[in-house]
Amino acid sequence: MPLYAGFDLGGTQLKYGLITDTGHTVYHGKKDSPLKIMELIQLIEKILKDLNEGEKFSISAVGFGFPGVLNQKEQKIHQSPNYPDIDHFDLVPALSRFIKVPFTINNDANMAAFGEYKKGAGQGVHSMVLLTIGTGLGTGIILEGKIWQGVCGFGGELGHAVVNSNGEPCNCGSRGCLETEVSAPKIVKNYHSLNQAENITDAVQVYEKALAGEKTAQEAFAMAGRYLGIGLSIAINLLNPEKILLGGGVMKAGDFLVKPAIQEAQKRSFKAGFDCCSIESAILGNQAGFIGSAYYAKENGIINI
Ligand SMILES: [Zn+2]
Repeated sequence: MPLYAGFDLGGTQLKYGLITDTGHTVYHGKKDSPLKIMELIQLIEKILKDLNEGEKFSISAVGFGFPGVLNQKEQKIHQSPNYPDIDHFDLVPALSRFIKVPFTINNDANMAAFGEYKKGAGQGVHSMVLLTIGTGLGTGIILEGKIWQGVCGFGGELGHAVVNSNGEPCNCGSRGCLETEVSAPKIVKNYHSLNQAENITDAVQVYEKALAGEKTAQEAFAMAGRYLGIGLSIAINLLNPEKILLGGGVMKAGDFLVKPAIQEAQKRSFKAGFDCCSIESAILGNQAGFIGSAYYAKENGIINI
């Protein structure tokens, strides 16, 4: 039975797994992400060697989702704020040294969107946008069955659409991006702007307070939610997608974030576009990235030189 390996590199963890032809996960694991790119390459080599050991699994293709924007032509990742050591690194020769089956390289958020499209909440849709909201905010766009990457591979970055022109400075060089206004650190900051007395360091603490009925904590999420709604309306008016899927750690806040987001999106979108878009939760959790990477390799594997 052919199997496909997928890797999803995050700022703190490398998640990986094996899927079958039909996208069923037969194995998955995770390791801490090494900070240095050469250590990461060595770790990937070791993981693949272990998976192939004794021919327990026979891997037919390998897919990678890396943070940062992908230069399609060069097959290199550029501008990776969460994993700077990968910036401009020559990935293909480094991986070709030990991977003797077809492999693909892509952006991590695109791969998560592809995973949800193939095996998660986006199956069978005409078009969809996935927003993964955590420490940052990753987005991937699927249009008519294909990932929208733009002419050079830098497209689909809704997380860097400006939703607040006077907002927080962003790692991308702009300010007030959807990512800076909605992700976990901003929710903590929102809370402090409303209540300076409390020493809160984590969005989970804000969530616990919101859950206990504290209005200030609920408003900290609502402030982020309204900016999220602006982001959703940009996606709706620009793309008229069939679905928008919301995932990532911050989504645990549920209605504290999503309700104000949907209200705001409704106010700011064309009614017709809003009415035909279904806004739902993503369902694959943190497995979306490696499942999407493996699936992408299965369908688009390039022969390595
Ligand atoms: Zn930005």
